[in-house]
Amino acid sequence: MTDDPPTEPRIGPVLGVFAHPDDAEIAAGGTLARWTAAGRDVHLLVLTNGDRGSGDPSRDRAELAATRRVETEAAAEVLGLASARLLGVHDGELENTAEVREAVVRRIREVGAETVLSVDPTAWFFENRYYNHTDHRRAGEIALDAAFPGAGNPHFFAEHLAEGLGLRDVHDIWLGWTNEPNHAEDVTGTFATKIAALAKHESQLSEGIRFFEEFLEKEAVEAGKKIGVEHAEEFRVLDLS
Ligand SMILES: [Zn+2]
Repeated sequence: MTDDPPTEPRIGPVLGVFAHPDDAEIAAGGTLARWTAAGRDVHLLVLTNGDRGSGDPSRDRAELAATRRVETEAAAEVLGLASARLLGVHDGELENTAEVREAVVRRIREVGAETVLSVDPTAWFFENRYYNHTDHRRAGEIALDAAFPGAGNPHFFAEHLAEGLGLRDVHDIWLGWTNEPNHAEDVTGTFATKIAALAKHESQLSEGIRFFEEFLEKEAVEAGKKIGVEHAEEFRVLDLS
């Protein structure tokens, strides 16, 4: 593994772009908490409303979406996020359309994001055990396309400029859930916050927080060993600056 992140830690605003209400916490909760603790303004944009996140056929999807919005806001509070918004696309139906890219470019420009955090859209298969949800792959694509070419180019969504929004060059992009990590972020001090935030997504914890805690702990310990710390989260980091 090569450790090739930006040499100086960035301090500017961050926009996290994820498919489902609990994805940010699972993929990057420790890193998000670390950034907010360091004083960065960290904003979250969840692209779907999570309304298929239940195995219970009697569960009302609109009610589930409303519940997941409340859970997202509660988790954001635990992480210390500056904002958490849900775009509201139906779960399982996320597509990389101009309409969705417009919403992400708008948010990058609104918050002045220096860093965009999402997931690796090229990760289809995780060993021979699992393959990546369509919404996750689409979310990664949308985040990349919104960051470049998009947020920094005056000919993409020029109506934003007329509204007074400025162009924004994104300097670095962090992609979780990747098979090609080039960076492990030390989250030893914030791993507990990640789990506490995830615990707010009660609708997703049919097996309790213990399942997530044990799985994520194992993953974080393995990543931590690579850089000699207790807990870490791995990313594919692109430095565009
Ligand atoms: Zn998800």
